[in-house]
Amino acid sequence: MTDRPTILIVDDEISNIEIMNAILEDDYEICFATSGPQALETARANLPDLILLDILMPEMDGFEVCRRLKNEALLADVPVIFTTGLGDTEDEVRGLSLGAIDYVTKPIQPVVLRARVSNHIELKRLRDQLAEMAVTDALTGLSNRRRMEQKLNAETERLAQSEDWLSVLLIDIDFFKQFNDTYGHLNGDRCIVMIASALKRALTRASDLSARYGGEEFACVLPGADAAAALTMAEEIQVQVGALNIPHARSTVSPNVTISIGIATGRCQPGVTPDKWIAHADRQLYRSKASGRNTITAITFGTSGAEENTSKMAS
Ligand code: GH3
Ligand code: MG
Ligand code: MG
Repeated sequence: MTDRPTILIVDDEISNIEIMNAILEDDYEICFATSGPQALETARANLPDLILLDILMPEMDGFEVCRRLKNEALLADVPVIFTTGLGDTEDEVRGLSLGAIDYVTKPIQPVVLRARVSNHIELKRLRDQLAEMAVTDALTGLSNRRRMEQKLNAETERLAQSEDWLSVLLIDIDFFKQFNDTYGHLNGDRCIVMIASALKRALTRASDLSARYGGEEFACVLPGADAAAALTMAEEIQVQVGALNIPHARSTVSPNVTISIGIATGRCQPGVTPDKWIAHADRQLYRSKASGRNTITAITFGTSGAEENTSKMAS
């Protein structure tokens, strides 16, 4: 394994690939394709950081390859640089309008190719970093509310096809205002970071997502989890938080920091919107607080209106 960026070189003439490979191989991982269809296949398999794309190729030209790349979610953001001998303004405009980021003309000038590739790789890295920051909570490194909502939207839609279960947990630290008042805001921040680490330990499935939902509130999206699975997860989270043993002298329910959890479980169905899970989980969280805190309360909601509740105090 290497963390060098990967470049896909597409050209129907092997000699062109060899020239570009010689210029770039010291700094990048190189893969190549000699036709449009092969380019798409190799791009899907390797998810390159940049694509150097020949325009004139038999069977499928570079314009068509570019158009198809831009239509694939996983490949749409990969920068495409056209390599062309044409030097034709019309072709340049067409390529750029299809989403290509730049042009280099053949015969290839090594300095120019190296500089353009390096610039665009760096820009791509910064773009990716920015996109990641936009959905990450800076304090805890968990997903933020935006990514959580994106995930919930995507999962409710995906799971509606199989009418599968989905559970959402809303989690809130108990008596946190008093914690800040007693130990200071900085220790409050540290406490939030530790609770986040407990969440990370509890949620081990790649498909589950934990997020910082707001100040001292967290949320988990558990695709496929029915009521029993969601309750097991909530209990595991409480175990992990308990194991942190963060002292809280002014909590009236425990000598240590505790959390309250509201669970909403429902079957995904066309027309059932994501806010239904949030609204139900929020209501259950409120009930957990009202019943004394350090508590898990759950609801399974259905279209028939039949609903079940369980309330469970952490031991
Ligand atoms: P409850 O048990 O009902 O949840 O009471 P609470 O005190 O935890 O809830 P409340 O909503 O009254 O207060 C939440 C507190 O969380 C107030 C706010 O200052 C604090 N808080 C929110 N975000 C942060 C943060 O990022 N860092 C720190 N240190 N404190 C925060
Ligand atoms: Mg060609
Ligand atoms: Mg609180």
